[in-house]
Amino acid sequence: MDVLTRAFQGAKAIAEGLATTFKHVTRSQVTIGYPEVRSELPAAFRGMPGLPPDKSGNTTCIGCLACARVCPPQCIFITTSKGEDRKLRIDDFIVDANLCIMCGLCEEVCPVTSKEDKTDYPGRAIQLTHLYEMSAYCHEDLVFHLPQLIAIGQEFGRQKSKDLPGQPRTACYSRLAVHVKELTRG
Ligand code: SF4
Ligand code: SF4
Repeated sequence: MDVLTRAFQGAKAIAEGLATTFKHVTRSQVTIGYPEVRSELPAAFRGMPGLPPDKSGNTTCIGCLACARVCPPQCIFITTSKGEDRKLRIDDFIVDANLCIMCGLCEEVCPVTSKEDKTDYPGRAIQLTHLYEMSAYCHEDLVFHLPQLIAIGQEFGRQKSKDLPGQPRTACYSRLAVHVKELTRG
């Protein structure tokens, strides 16, 4: 093969490569610049379970244990006690996110309901939120206790209330993930 033929083949290969590049330049973008840009999640997205609190900031859980029984990987642990008024108190509610498969069965079986909430499982004491950024350096950081689960649920409630079209409902969840980690260390 003479020099001229090789030069011609080289130029042809470069032209073909550039043609492919220019073809993609005119196409619409399919990727996003995560984490600065976030995609809008569907309303039914299943993320980390949380415990949306009532107006006074307490869990609405009645301690029936239905969620703990139905949970496939058995990652819900609830401890209760009876107060002086003989009412059941939730001492701790733990969800081990290392094991949770976000199946949503806990939310489905929860007997607590609310007429005001028009979602699929209205006002459940345990709800699957849109929190999905949960990387951690150790197992313990992903074992969420009652205060963290209430914080997750509270943030989810806030996001749902300003459910505006075109506004990513996950916008502040990365900050929440940091907040939850701080609570966990606390
Ligand atoms: S979403 Fe599924 S795996 Fe996770 S806590 Fe609920 S029942 Fe268990
Ligand atoms: S979260 Fe719902 S299902 Fe689970 S113990 Fe509380 S009331 Fe029962």
